[in-house]
Amino acid sequence: MAQRSALVAGGAGFLGSHLCERLLSDGYQVICVDNLGSGRRSNIRHLLDDDEFQLMERDIRSNPEFPPTDEVFHLASRASPADFTEFPVRIALTNTEGTRHLLDFARDYDAKMVFASTSEVYGDPEVHPQPETYTGNVNIRGPRGCYDESKRFGETLTVAYERKYDVDVRTARIFNTYGPRMRPDDGRVVPTFIRQALGGEDLTIYGDGTQTRSFCYVNDLVDGLVTLMNSEGTKGSVFNLGRENEITIETLAETILDMCATESGIAYEPLPEDDPMRRKPDISKAREQLGWEPTIPYRDGLAKTLSYYEERLD
Ligand code: NAD
Ligand code: UDP
Repeated sequence: MAQRSALVAGGAGFLGSHLCERLLSDGYQVICVDNLGSGRRSNIRHLLDDDEFQLMERDIRSNPEFPPTDEVFHLASRASPADFTEFPVRIALTNTEGTRHLLDFARDYDAKMVFASTSEVYGDPEVHPQPETYTGNVNIRGPRGCYDESKRFGETLTVAYERKYDVDVRTARIFNTYGPRMRPDDGRVVPTFIRQALGGEDLTIYGDGTQTRSFCYVNDLVDGLVTLMNSEGTKGSVFNLGRENEITIETLAETILDMCATESGIAYEPLPEDDPMRRKPDISKAREQLGWEPTIPYRDGLAKTLSYYEERLD
């Protein structure tokens, strides 16, 4: 079979860098496109010597040109709620104008595309767990709207391009994913708690810690994205990708404290506005149609993540 090529937008970020690695090991030629906003060169430095890997430092909002590829993985977007205050316009335009540019690319070069959407399209869900058919409860004018609503519109664009131009685009609604290479100051809960525990600081629980999330280890998630790209009969479809192990944020804090030799305790801080109270994916569709489900147990994933940060943080 001829060598396949993929453009990975957001390839220097947390998920994107793991995806680039996986595609290279699957024998792909990989073009990593990133504006190095929340992404880091250090995430992909070990790939730069690989002849099959190329970094193009570009911003997808400005409609840059790329060499044709067979596939496009669109993961470009800041994803931490901590960034929604500082970068709301960039985030909103990356997921809309930027998505449009990548859809044009996919249409013009007849490339298959996977769009990274998010569980945030369900907002603060009234249906639990969340199936793909749930249309969500998003506050379009709230502090998370720049992200939630632009991902929703990004999905709308993918459907429009599929209907109008027959672009082969599939969408992954990704639920909370964690692992090595999340920035320690990213603001998301797992790297924050680990940085605090390793530094002997108290873990900052927002609210009373009864809100829930379901955490998936990065390798499982990347496997889901690749499986989605390669599965027959999924053109135009949307799939939840995540792990069904719903836990409270308090339980997460206690687990991390338990796994680290630390003097840290817990400090309670106010819950941010519109912070969803419950989140758990219904992944029956992915199980049935993709034959995919996560395999890495929660404590094993956390242990791998902890050892990554232990090596890097004083
Ligand atoms: P990340 O911030 O580590 O990665 C995003 C990457 O996109 C960064 O490298 C950033 O520099 C790049 N980027 C952002 N805007 C860009 C632009 N305009 N042009 C070019 N590059 C740009 O975040 P992540 O956790 O790896 O998330 C990757 C994708 O997965 C995002 O689309 C996010 O919405 C989605 N997602 C992630 C999670 C999760 O739990 N990690 C959950 C749901 C959805
Ligand atoms: N959270 C917390 N302390 C932190 C960071 C986050 O208690 O230092 C909480 C946050 O309020 C939310 C949950 O952890 O309820 C997950 O937050 P994250 O930003 O990781 O992801 P998202 O809210 O997008 O699911």
